[in-house]
Amino acid sequence: MKYKSQLFQALCSLSVVCLILLVASPPALFLFFTNSPVPVAGSPLYLETSSPGSDVAYTLPDIVADACYINENPEFMPVSGKPVYDVFTVEERQSSGLGLEVPAVSPYRAEKVVYLTFDDGPAPETTPVVLDILGRYGIKATFFVVGNQAEKHPAIVRRIYQEGHALGNHSYNHVYRDLYQSANTYIAQLHHTDEIVRSIIGARPRISRAPGGSAGSFTKEYWDILSTQGYVEIGWNISAGDASNAKAGRIVDNIVAQMKNENLWSHAIVLLHDGRGHHETVKALPEIITFYQDRQFEFRVVSFETPAPW
Ligand SMILES: [Zn+2]
Repeated sequence: MKYKSQLFQALCSLSVVCLILLVASPPALFLFFTNSPVPVAGSPLYLETSSPGSDVAYTLPDIVADACYINENPEFMPVSGKPVYDVFTVEERQSSGLGLEVPAVSPYRAEKVVYLTFDDGPAPETTPVVLDILGRYGIKATFFVVGNQAEKHPAIVRRIYQEGHALGNHSYNHVYRDLYQSANTYIAQLHHTDEIVRSIIGARPRISRAPGGSAGSFTKEYWDILSTQGYVEIGWNISAGDASNAKAGRIVDNIVAQMKNENLWSHAIVLLHDGRGHHETVKALPEIITFYQDRQFEFRVVSFETPAPW
């Protein structure tokens, strides 16, 4: 009996210690769920550039969202279904000898999967409403943000991130004649947007989407540079047709018509826009979501597991 009561007391003490640890240090909980070496929380972000391969310290992203963070661990593997971010920029990885390769992840396959993707934001009049709607339906989506909009509206970028949606890179200024001068000008815009996003959330996306799509703009040189720098280019296979002046009803019809192609049901990647002026997309969104929910589709965020659209 005495032994039992001592055991009970010991267990109680242990629980209290665990509770104090969790309350005092939420990042400790986060670290528990990652297989990464322990980052030096609270220290400034720096790199040991003089000795490649040495230990590298970094801060945790400022708000720890339910996401995966690629760090200096070469064994890093993302957790299925979560947004993926990198705590280092391309330059930091290159100068410190850290790898830029994308972890070898198998494409996610299931019968009915949809990825809602929103381009050209964030915009104060549309993106927060989109987030409200997604929240109301309890689903996650992916936002390919333009750097010069992200720097104007950091609070919206933070909100996208905090609410567990994925952030992707959609260039800095979206101006084709600047962007597509060469592979180098294109990649420079991705780097610029990386820095902006990281300054807001403490980490950067590894997924990107070419404004206007890669077809017709990318040469082999673009694909090569993206691959050596570890960006994953994400296209689409369902277009909402909302870049023009289409009304909400038409936007829904466009999607429904393209979904007749059952080959796309395992990975329907839907292109939508939350940039300035896209009020019709916002109006159409509840019906688009309902269309997929009624058919038991699983909503996922874009990650390394997302299959190629075609
Ligand atoms: Zn765009």
